[in-house]
Amino acid sequence: MPLLENRNALVMGIVNRWSLAHAIAAALAREGARLHLTYQGERQRETVEQIAAAFPQARAWACDVSNDEQIASLFARLQSEKVELDCLAHSIAFAQREDLDRAFELTSREGFRIALDVSAYSFVAVARAAAALMPRGGSMLTLTYLGAQRVIRNYNVMGVAKAALEASVRYLAADLGPRGIRVNALSAGPVKTASARGIRDFSSILDQVAQRAPLRRNTDPGEVGDAAVFLASDLSRGITGEVLYVDSGFHILGI
Ligand code: NAP
Repeated sequence: MPLLENRNALVMGIVNRWSLAHAIAAALAREGARLHLTYQGERQRETVEQIAAAFPQARAWACDVSNDEQIASLFARLQSEKVELDCLAHSIAFAQREDLDRAFELTSREGFRIALDVSAYSFVAVARAAAALMPRGGSMLTLTYLGAQRVIRNYNVMGVAKAALEASVRYLAADLGPRGIRVNALSAGPVKTASARGIRDFSSILDQVAQRAPLRRNTDPGEVGDAAVFLASDLSRGITGEVLYVDSGFHILGI
């Protein structure tokens, strides 16, 4: 029997077929989940509706997670359609280009605020709303990166935002655990996506991982999708507040 049969999953953060959220959606759908996909705004609507049409019973909804009214309206619509969620996958991050292009010490107050708001706080806001639609309990996951723990060249304020996101995972896990809701993060190795292209010298990061990681290769988005299935399913029922690395083992390396 598929691992996620009759489960409802909300997957947030698809902009195109290269998005990690797309690989997660594909893996969840393969295991029988009914998908609700979200995209940021009108500019992405057509592409994401086409992506949704390729999955059985998938729906696509707009939601800019920097806007509380849009979050409230998304969950009000899900509730009005009597959707009960089993899984939330949050795959969203943003930092201003200039803050990824210069020394971290030059990060502006506004750049810091935006990166933390969209990349970390949004998970807290969405988790709170999603928990209200999880009467049977459920599983929430978000996407993080090694730059939360180590200094990665040019990752800058996004590393600080990911550190806040990983801490938020632990606090949310503690709050929501008594309601049967687990909260975890997947720390993916570098993958060429639209967001990743905003990081200067990203291809040299990819090259270093392929040369040095224990598995001597880069992360395949499908591996992130399969790990999301594990976290969404009962196979991980004893795991919460965890950061699971899907990075060919790169994070274990020292010098
Ligand atoms: P992606 O395809 O560009 O996905 C990022 C998504 O965030 C896009 O759909 C983007 O929408 C969305 N987003 C940004 N601001 C938003 C807002 N205000 N409201 C709603 N959505 C918003 O890139 P990705 O690499 O798959 O990133 C997904 C997640 O994986 C991110 O958290 C990223 O940090 C994480 N991650 C990526 C890597 C990697 O190497 N690619 C590694 C580890 C972790 P628009 O493009 O329409 O703005």
